[in-house]
Amino acid sequence: MEQLSKGSSTEHVKMFINGEWVNSSSGSTRDIVNPATGEVIATAAEGTAEDVDTAVQAAKYAFYDGGWWDTPAVERARLLFAAAQSLEERMEEFALLETLNNGKPLREARYDVSDAIACFRYYAGLATKPTGQTYEVPDGQQAMVVREPIGVCGQIVPWNYPLLMSVWKLAPALAAGNTIVFKTAELTPMTAVKLFEILEQAGFPKGVVNLVLGQGSVVGQAIAEHHDVDKVAFTGGTATGRKIMEASLGNLKKVTLELGGKSPNMVFADADMDTAVDYALFGIFANQGQVCAAGSRLLLEESIYDEFIERMVEKARHIRVGPGLDERSQMGPLISEVHMNKVLDYIKIGKQEGAKLVLGGNRITEGKLKDGYFVEPTIFINTTSEMTIVKEEIFGPVLVVQKFSDEAEALRLANDTIYGLAGAVFTNNVAKAYRVIKKVRAGITWINSYHPTYNEAPWGGFKQSGNGRELGTFGYEAYTEVKQINNNLNIQPTGWFDEE
Ligand code: NAD
Repeated sequence: MEQLSKGSSTEHVKMFINGEWVNSSSGSTRDIVNPATGEVIATAAEGTAEDVDTAVQAAKYAFYDGGWWDTPAVERARLLFAAAQSLEERMEEFALLETLNNGKPLREARYDVSDAIACFRYYAGLATKPTGQTYEVPDGQQAMVVREPIGVCGQIVPWNYPLLMSVWKLAPALAAGNTIVFKTAELTPMTAVKLFEILEQAGFPKGVVNLVLGQGSVVGQAIAEHHDVDKVAFTGGTATGRKIMEASLGNLKKVTLELGGKSPNMVFADADMDTAVDYALFGIFANQGQVCAAGSRLLLEESIYDEFIERMVEKARHIRVGPGLDERSQMGPLISEVHMNKVLDYIKIGKQEGAKLVLGGNRITEGKLKDGYFVEPTIFINTTSEMTIVKEEIFGPVLVVQKFSDEAEALRLANDTIYGLAGAVFTNNVAKAYRVIKKVRAGITWINSYHPTYNEAPWGGFKQSGNGRELGTFGYEAYTEVKQINNNLNIQPTGWFDEE
């Protein structure tokens, strides 16, 4: 990275292609904004389809001619451990930068960085563990099954967890021996750029990891379309996921998708109410609600409906909204003005469609927060399944609450969605908890908690929330091809075409 000349003190960040830090082939740049103040904090190179092609060719060369795919697993593990170590040494720097660029409260950014370090270590450890299989088959043959890297992987991530989403993608793909063309969200390149500095210093060979910055419809689209990209792994909105799938048809590349959600959080009358209230708020207001797995639909059993709402709203009133860099802040700004306006539009629609607003609903327009993109924690009650705010992902601090009378109705409401990313149930009845969670059509579920997720377990969605899984051994396997090798133990001609 370098400082721009001509008297500007704004940092300028470049792309990392074929082992070099470079500007865009078009010379274009983009302003990067602090969402807490609206101020420009940096400029970033704005890549082009040509830059994507250069990066893909570098990744292809590094994979085949460079021999990366044949690098011993123990060496790939060493490099990933080195990256984890550097990230740990620079933890606070990364947390501060993440908050500056994304807006999230520092305590969340610190959590993300430590999770990213753990993810590198998990896959560094896993790199040397995969085993193959052998089968007893007829005809004097032996069959073996081995896993091999897929090749050049395009990876595209969103802005809500810029560092963590990057590591979730990079670590398993590198552990499995692939080369990478990576794209951050255009709004949040800062920590990914620093992360690529770390990968460079760790010693990944030239061309193995490439970073192209820029717009989704240009850089992302070019990655998804490119015929020398063997797999594309995408995290983002469901509509974009559909475009990626279409763009990938040209060479039928492998596609994994981590998409949106509108996840149900069900609370039964026999739940521990303090715990359920606490997690209901954490489920929707962590990261300002900009979480794919957010518990954005709260379903309450009717006998506790009024009391639960009263206690939850009272607690939510005291959430401290402020700049993420202020240690006291519990909720920060939304990512951008455009996104904030989208969230405010949903709030307007909620009111128009007859939902009852019991908390928040506004942008904060006074005092120190007026130039940032701050929206109050917002809660709607008396909502119905037909309402737009119940059906669509808002991706902001907006909770919609519905009432149910029994288990069957809770499940009917919970599953009444095109999404299937996450879901939770709160009850002290063990059998009911398991009975209910088993019937939730979602990939990530919790009993008596919301949000905790671990590198060891697979992450991904049912229905239109995605395709494939990240994390855990499933996430590793998603970056491999499976090959069968048949070994003839009885070397002699078949005689198939011999004359009688
Ligand atoms: P988005 O789909 O607009 O953008 C995500 C990424 O895709 C960005 O890097 C963007 O530049 C790129 N992109 C945009 N158009 C593209 C195109 N035509 N071709 C290729 N790439 C393109 O999403 P967002 O607004 O950045 O993020 C919010 C969405 O991400 C929400 O729907 C959220 O639920 C989802 N999300 C899902 C997960 C998960 O694990 N399932 C995690 C985080 C976010």
